[in-house]
Amino acid sequence: MQFVAEWSANQGRNLIYIHPAVLAVFQQHIQAGTSDLEGGGLLLGYVRGSHLEIVEATVPTKFDRRFRAFFERMQDLHEHIAQKRWSDSNGLVRYIGEWHTHPQDHPSPSGTDLTEWRKLSAKRKDKRPVLGLIVGRKTMYLESMPSDGDGTEFYPAK
Ligand SMILES: [Zn+2]
Repeated sequence: MQFVAEWSANQGRNLIYIHPAVLAVFQQHIQAGTSDLEGGGLLLGYVRGSHLEIVEATVPTKFDRRFRAFFERMQDLHEHIAQKRWSDSNGLVRYIGEWHTHPQDHPSPSGTDLTEWRKLSAKRKDKRPVLGLIVGRKTMYLESMPSDGDGTEFYPAK
C-alpha cells in the first residue's frame, strides 16, 4: 500500500505535492494495531504560488504525550525544528500545517480536529490557512483550513 503524493483542489488550481520521505514517515506511524498510539507533528515545506510542496514531517518525540484517541504534541520542540528549517533555508521552508494519525482505514476529521486547525490558522502571522492532514490505515485526509470560513478538502490528483 502506497500513499498518494499529489493532491488537488479547485479543479487543479491548488496542488499539493508530498515528498516520498514524508510519505515514508507517515507509513512508519500508521495506526495498524488497535493498541497503536496516535502520532503526529508539523508539516514543513515550500509555498509555490497557489501550490504547496511538503518536504518534511516532524515526528513524535519522546517528549510528546501519545494516546490512542488523541495526540498532543510538545509545541515548543516541534516549533523549534520549524524555526530552524526556516532560518537554514532563508525563509523558504516554512510551516505548512499539522499531521496526525487516526485508527481508521479512511480517516475523517473529528470536531476537535477542525476546531484545532482553525485555531492554529488564526495564530499564523502570515495569515495563510493551515493544512490539516490525517494519516489513516489506507488513505489520507487533507484539508486547508482558514481562520474563518469553510476549509477546502483536497483529493488525489488524477
Ligand atoms: Zn484527529
